Amino acid sequence: MALYQDPSVQLLISKFVRGEIVELTPGFDLDHTVRYPEVEEVVDQDPNAAKQLVQKLWDSGIFKRKFHEKVLVCPSCLSPNVSNDYVCPNCNSIDIERKTLLEHTACGNIDSVDNFLVEGSLLCPKCNKELVEAGVDYQKLGAWFQCAQCGKRSDMPSPIHRCRNCGHIFTIRDTGFVNVYAYRVSSEAEEEFKRSYLVMKPIGLVLEDFQFKVDMPGQIAGRSGALHRFDAVATKGSSEVVVLDVIASDKEIDEVPVASMYAKIFDVSPSQSILVAIPGLTDRAKRLAALYRVSIVEAENSQRAADQIKDKFGWAGLSGSDESFGDLQL
Ligand SMILES: [Zn+2]
Ligand SMILES: [Zn+2]
Ligand SMILES: [Zn+2]
Repeated sequence: MALYQDPSVQLLISKFVRGEIVELTPGFDLDHTVRYPEVEEVVDQDPNAAKQLVQKLWDSGIFKRKFHEKVLVCPSCLSPNVSNDYVCPNCNSIDIERKTLLEHTACGNIDSVDNFLVEGSLLCPKCNKELVEAGVDYQKLGAWFQCAQCGKRSDMPSPIHRCRNCGHIFTIRDTGFVNVYAYRVSSEAEEEFKRSYLVMKPIGLVLEDFQFKVDMPGQIAGRSGALHRFDAVATKGSSEVVVLDVIASDKEIDEVPVASMYAKIFDVSPSQSILVAIPGLTDRAKRLAALYRVSIVEAENSQRAADQIKDKFGWAGLSGSDESFGDLQL
């Protein structure tokens, strides 16, 4: 929840919610191993802060991920700037040459390709004829590697890695690996964000305009000792507490959320309780709200609901009595 209060998190997740980002695809980078350009945009272009934010969102369950690739890194300094080299198995020199053996089938001569190469074309050193087409008048018999330092031949040099950052030389046996993932926002987190942030934001701003300290969502301990969660808890001083829940549906909302809000406010006893219903409540639900002294705001969206709260509070004052606040029941 604290993460949703972070402006960079709000900006990033709202991009997912609006469909501007579907998936964070990692980019490879020799300095940072992995980068997430869309995340860097919301953290002042700082690649490390972007990686930390992605990790936090994964740890908190807001992000889900899938394996993208495995990056080989230096076991000593963790740099991904690592070379793949092949060395002489005898003296470990990197100075090896690949030699190919050719057979001139026309005359039967077998020799290293070096001895056939003359000014870019292949000429048989034995019969002096030009070699025309592989598989027809000549063929490759294979390749081997020759060390320029110790002269030893081998058919399989040893693969090693060399760190270009710290110079450490290592093999597959002690190589470091880093898993790199692509990320998406989990659908539960997206719904939670839409509800608790996008929907609540205009309402929270109005409450703040009236000098309230607003937590969205917020929690209050009741007389029973139980903690009750509301979509918004607005406090002013030590005595004034406004609790607000928002319920949205594609049709008229029944009395269930009214009853569940009443169960909470019965324990908490706030100075005001407001139920915002988008688009509205059934008559039965409205009657129940009146009975429970839950003020209701019906609106087609949360911005309209915020406008209504602002209008009414602007005239009546938010610290007004229950009677004046009752005017909110439109
Ligand atoms: Zn050698
Ligand atoms: Zn020949
Ligand atoms: Zn290194």
